[in-house]
Amino acid sequence: MGCSNNKKSYYLESEAQEALIRSNIRFVKAAVNYYVCNQCSEYHLTSKGETNPLLNELTIKERINKERQLQALV
Ligand SMILES: [Zn+2]
Repeated sequence: MGCSNNKKSYYLESEAQEALIRSNIRFVKAAVNYYVCNQCSEYHLTSKGETNPLLNELTIKERINKERQLQALV
Protein backbone atom coordinates (compact mmCIF):
# COMPACT_ATOMS: atom_id res chain seq x y z
CA MET A 1 0.00 0.00 0.00
CA GLY A 2 0.99 3.59 -0.49
CA CYS A 3 3.21 2.83 -3.42
CA SER A 4 3.32 5.49 -6.11
CA ASN A 5 3.69 3.11 -9.04
CA ASN A 6 0.25 1.68 -8.28
CA LYS A 7 1.35 -1.90 -8.79
CA LYS A 8 -0.15 -4.71 -6.80
CA SER A 9 2.10 -5.52 -3.89
CA TYR A 10 2.72 -8.70 -1.93
CA TYR A 11 3.73 -8.74 1.68
CA LEU A 12 5.28 -12.20 1.64
CA GLU A 13 7.78 -13.63 -0.81
CA SER A 14 5.67 -16.77 -1.06
CA GLU A 15 2.73 -14.62 -2.20
CA ALA A 16 4.90 -12.97 -4.83
CA GLN A 17 6.05 -16.40 -6.05
CA GLU A 18 2.48 -17.63 -6.35
CA ALA A 19 1.44 -14.46 -8.18
CA LEU A 20 4.38 -14.86 -10.56
CA ILE A 21 3.32 -18.41 -11.39
CA ARG A 22 -0.31 -17.36 -11.86
CA SER A 23 0.77 -14.56 -14.15
CA ASN A 24 2.54 -17.13 -16.32
CA ILE A 25 -0.54 -19.32 -16.43
CA ARG A 26 -2.81 -16.47 -17.45
CA PHE A 27 -0.80 -14.21 -19.72
CA VAL A 28 1.34 -14.67 -22.79
CA LYS A 29 3.35 -11.60 -21.87
CA ALA A 30 3.68 -12.59 -18.26
CA ALA A 31 5.75 -11.28 -15.41
CA VAL A 32 9.20 -12.84 -15.30
CA ASN A 33 10.28 -11.97 -11.79
CA TYR A 34 9.47 -10.16 -8.58
CA TYR A 35 11.45 -7.63 -6.59
CA VAL A 36 11.38 -5.82 -3.28
CA CYS A 37 10.19 -2.27 -3.80
CA ASN A 38 12.34 0.44 -2.29
CA GLN A 39 9.26 2.61 -1.74
CA CYS A 40 6.85 0.30 0.03
CA SER A 41 9.23 -2.55 0.99
CA GLU A 42 6.78 -5.09 -0.38
CA TYR A 43 7.09 -7.33 -3.42
CA HIS A 44 5.96 -6.36 -6.91
CA LEU A 45 5.96 -8.40 -10.11
CA THR A 46 7.94 -7.22 -13.12
CA SER A 47 8.01 -8.21 -16.77
CA LYS A 48 11.52 -6.85 -17.25
CA GLY A 49 14.94 -8.21 -16.39
CA GLU A 50 16.05 -11.73 -15.63
CA THR A 51 13.68 -14.63 -15.35
CA ASN A 52 13.27 -15.93 -11.85
CA PRO A 53 14.83 -19.44 -11.57
CA LEU A 54 11.54 -20.63 -10.11
CA LEU A 55 9.96 -20.44 -13.56
CA ASN A 56 12.60 -22.81 -14.93
CA GLU A 57 11.94 -25.50 -12.36
CA LEU A 58 10.43 -28.57 -13.95
CA THR A 59 7.63 -28.98 -11.42
CA ILE A 60 6.64 -25.33 -11.85
CA LYS A 61 6.76 -25.59 -15.66
CA GLU A 62 4.58 -28.68 -15.53
CA ARG A 63 2.08 -26.91 -13.32
CA ILE A 64 1.95 -23.89 -15.65
CA ASN A 65 1.44 -26.09 -18.72
CA LYS A 66 -1.21 -28.18 -17.01
CA GLU A 67 -3.22 -25.19 -15.79
CA ARG A 68 -2.92 -23.49 -19.19
CA GLN A 69 -4.43 -26.56 -20.83
CA LEU A 70 -7.25 -26.59 -18.29
CA GLN A 71 -7.96 -22.92 -19.04
CA ALA A 72 -8.05 -23.62 -22.78
CA LEU A 73 -10.91 -26.04 -22.20
CA VAL A 74 -13.13 -23.49 -20.50
ZN1 LIG B 1 6.11 -0.50 -4.02
